[in-house]
Amino acid sequence: MKKKTFICMIFISFSLFCHTQIKLPVQLDALSGPQVIEAAKTSGGVCLLPLGILEKHGAHLPISTDLIIAREIALKAAEEEYCVVFPAYYFGQINEARHQPGAFAYSHSTIWNLLQETLDELSRNGFKKIILVNGHGGNNDFIQYFLMSQLESPKEYVVINYAPQFDSTFAQSLEKLLDPLGYGHAGSDETSMVQAIRPDLVHPELASRQSGEDLKRLDSIPDQYTGIWWYARFPNHFGGESSHPNVEYGRQFNNQMVKQLVGLIKAVKASDKIEELQQEFYERAKNPLNTPQ
Ligand SMILES: [Zn+2]
Repeated sequence: MKKKTFICMIFISFSLFCHTQIKLPVQLDALSGPQVIEAAKTSGGVCLLPLGILEKHGAHLPISTDLIIAREIALKAAEEEYCVVFPAYYFGQINEARHQPGAFAYSHSTIWNLLQETLDELSRNGFKKIILVNGHGGNNDFIQYFLMSQLESPKEYVVINYAPQFDSTFAQSLEKLLDPLGYGHAGSDETSMVQAIRPDLVHPELASRQSGEDLKRLDSIPDQYTGIWWYARFPNHFGGESSHPNVEYGRQFNNQMVKQLVGLIKAVKASDKIEELQQEFYERAKNPLNTPQ
């Protein structure tokens, strides 16, 4: 081969390499090692952590329902505003469903440590702005306490829980799409959301095999809260009615969740306010007597 031809070939392959841009995946587990560096930079250090659970969702929905919904919303939002999405995560609070098949209820210390260590590892890999996208109602109180506990000791990252509020006009138009009796755990609302994503896994005709009625078995005892409250109300771990889901409800709900999550990702990328306040707090907490009074 002539020297000139060889140089030319190198040039052509170099330009081809430069012009064939590899699309950076949003799924963290789909990235190569070197791509993790690029993703951490391109995302502004933002990673979404969709939280689901494995638990019975009536007789008509898969046990991974919450994870399916949370991951779909996170993946779509990440495609729209680049950030990384953590792999399937289903370690949360689900003690109230231990009596039902399909509930994977890890101990409180395990779910706590696993979440903390997952965040620590994300931070160590360059993702310093972590947004929890929770799909499981039984996690809500756990997440809030967990987030408050982040103030115990300094962290090099911030954790934010995606907590969308729907505009009242949108909420009202959405409500019109469903029978009011249908709302609840594995009810028509949740059934419609899964139907919009994985219709192959939804079997509304099986929903009436069990009752989703609220038995109100502790209503005679006033002014109390007890861990058995959910079982007292819904022993079948199914609430509401879901023989008539509406895929349009599911689509609109999911799309709105994506839209508002995109807004949060953009805001978190554009601002370091949470980091700054957190840092100021940690500094002051070292010696509260020096905090201006
Ligand atoms: Zn659910």
